[in-house]
Amino acid sequence: MNEVIRYFTSVSPREAAITKIEFEGTRLAIYTKNQDLFMEQDQVARELVSLIKKRVVIRSDPSIRKPQEEAAEVIKSKISHSSNLFFDETLGEAIIETNDMTATISESDEVAMEIMKLTGWKPRVVRSPLMTSRTFERLRNYVYWDPREKLEILRNVGERIFRAQTFTTEDVTVTFLGAARQVGRSAMLVETSESRVLLDCGLAPGASSSIDMFPRFDSRIDEIMNLDAVVISHAHLDHMGVLPFLFKYGYRGPVFLLEPTLALMTMEQIDYIGVAAKEGSFAPYSEQEVRTQIQHTIPLRYGTVSNITPDIRITLYNAGHILGSSIVHLHVGEGLHNIVYTGDYKFERSRTLEPSVYKFPRAETLIMEATYGANPVPFTRVESEAILAGFVKQAVERGGKILIPVAAIGRAQEIMLVVKALFEQKFIPEVPVFLDGLLIEATALHTAYPEYLSQELRMAFDQNLNAFASDLFTPVKNQTQRDEILNSQGSAVIMSTSGMLEGGPVLGYLKEFANDEKNMLIFVMYQVEGTMGRKLLKGIREIPLADGNGKTEIIQIKLQVERVDGFSGHSSRQQLLNYLRRFTPKPRNLVLIHGEPEAIDSLAKTASRIIPSRIYAPRCLDSLSLTS
Ligand code: ZN
Repeated sequence: MNEVIRYFTSVSPREAAITKIEFEGTRLAIYTKNQDLFMEQDQVARELVSLIKKRVVIRSDPSIRKPQEEAAEVIKSKISHSSNLFFDETLGEAIIETNDMTATISESDEVAMEIMKLTGWKPRVVRSPLMTSRTFERLRNYVYWDPREKLEILRNVGERIFRAQTFTTEDVTVTFLGAARQVGRSAMLVETSESRVLLDCGLAPGASSSIDMFPRFDSRIDEIMNLDAVVISHAHLDHMGVLPFLFKYGYRGPVFLLEPTLALMTMEQIDYIGVAAKEGSFAPYSEQEVRTQIQHTIPLRYGTVSNITPDIRITLYNAGHILGSSIVHLHVGEGLHNIVYTGDYKFERSRTLEPSVYKFPRAETLIMEATYGANPVPFTRVESEAILAGFVKQAVERGGKILIPVAAIGRAQEIMLVVKALFEQKFIPEVPVFLDGLLIEATALHTAYPEYLSQELRMAFDQNLNAFASDLFTPVKNQTQRDEILNSQGSAVIMSTSGMLEGGPVLGYLKEFANDEKNMLIFVMYQVEGTMGRKLLKGIREIPLADGNGKTEIIQIKLQVERVDGFSGHSSRQQLLNYLRRFTPKPRNLVLIHGEPEAIDSLAKTASRIIPSRIYAPRCLDSLSLTS
C-alpha cells in the first residue's frame, strides 16, 4: 500500500484523488475521482505492476459515474451491435452482453475511451452463446445476484493472498489424495511452510462406495479445512465433481480456473445433482453449495501470472483437452521451485482445440497424466476419421442405426465437427444426426468462448458463423421426439451422453438398438474401469439396464460394438512420450499420475530411457518432498 501512495505522490505527481485502495482477489483496486487517471488506467496499471509486483486495476469512484439511465443512452449510441446492457455498481463496470462475435472492445479502444470519458463507467463486453443456454442464465444470476457480497469475498481473498508471510518458504510437498495409479478423483495437496493449495477436486466415476468415490480428504482433514486456495484444471467431474462438497463443509477460500471452466463446471454439477435425484440417490451437495462455490471463483486467463498465496503464483496454459482445460504452472517461493501439473492434456491439434503448451519458463517438477500410458494408438486423428467414416458407411448401407456415446464436453463437439466434415467431403452418406442429452447445452456454451477454441473455429465465429451447426443436426428436446427416433425406419446417427454408458439418454437408445445386428455402437473415448462402457469393450454381452420403473432387466447385446481410439482428448502413449521429449526445460522430477497401474508402469519404464529425470509413480496418500 505504501508503495502505491508513494507512486501517486512522487512518480505520478498530480492530484490523484484516490478515494479508496483495497484488495480485489488477485489484484489491488484503486478507486479515483480523477477523470484523467481513470482514463489513463492502462498505463498507470502497467507502471504499478512493475513497481509493486501486484496486478492493479483502476476503478472510478461512484461520484464521477453518470446515473445508469443516462450512461445507458450514451453507451447504446456508441455500440452498433445489438446487446443487453447492465451495470455492475460495485466495480463501476457497464457489462455489454452480446452474441455478435464481431463486437470487441478493449480498454485502449477509442469507443471504450469515449464511453469512459462520457459516463465514468468502464465498458466490458461479455459474449453470450449463439444458442440458448440455461447454464449461462443461471451463472449470470449467481454472479451478479449480489455484487456486494462478491466484492466482500474478493477483498477477503486479496487480504489473505497478500498477507505478510509468517514462515520462510524452504520446501514444497505434494500429497496425492486421488488419481494415483488410478483414473478418477483427481486431487492433490501442495504444501509449503506458509500455504496449502488443492489442485483439482474430482470424484471417481464408477466407484462403488463413497470412500472410493471421494479424494481421501479424511487423511488430511486439518489441511483441507485450512486451504488457501483451490485450482481447477478443467471441467470434467473427475477433476471438479466434489468441489461444492468442500463448500458444504465450510471452505470459503478462492477457486481459480478459466472462465469457460466456470460455465462448464456449473453445468456438469447441476446435471450431476439432477441425475442423482432421478436415480433415487443423493449427490453429496445441493445447488446451494454450487452457488456458494461460484461466488468464490476467480476466473483467470491463459498466460497471466497470479499470486494465489503469499508464496505461490500460478499461470494457466492451454492443455488441448477440452474447452477451458489448463496446464497449471506453480511458482513456489521466490525462485525456490516450479511445478507443472498437466491436468488432462492432448499433445495434438484437434478440430476443436490447439495442442497443449510444452514450453515453460521454469519447471523442476512435471506432474503428468498417463491415462493412455500403455496404449499406443495405431492411428492418427486423420486416419481415425477415415475409420469412423468406414463404420458409419457400413451401418448405413445395411440400414442400421449408429449410436455414439460421447461425454457432453469435448468428445461431443469434436465428433460433431468430424461428422460435419465427413458429410461435406461426401465421405459418408447424408443421414440425419440426432444430438441428445447434456451435449446440447455444452455445445451452446462452446459458442460463448470462441477465443479458447482452435484458430480455425475462431475464424468461423469471427464471421458470426456457428461452427457447430449443420442442416443435418437435430437436437432432441423431449421424450416424444426420442420415441419418434426409436420407432423410425432407416439409418441415423445418434450422439448422446453419458460417454461411458453410466446413465443419461444414451441408455434408452442402447436398450432399443441392442438386439439388432444391423445397428452399431461406436466408442470414441476412454472407458474407465468399472463403467458399463468398459464392460462392453471387454466383450460382456449381457448387461443390466434399469427399465424406468425402478426394475432392472438384463439386455442381450447383439448390435455391433466398435471403437475408434484416435479421437480421445487424452494424449496417446506416443503423444505422452513426444511431450516428454519436447518438454522444455527438462524437469528434475517426473511424477506420473491419472493412469491405471499398467499404464503408469509402462510409461515410467520408457520415460526413463527418454529423459534423465527422477521418476515417481505415487500411490494414493503418498507425499513427495519436491525440494529434497
Ligand atoms: Zn478430463
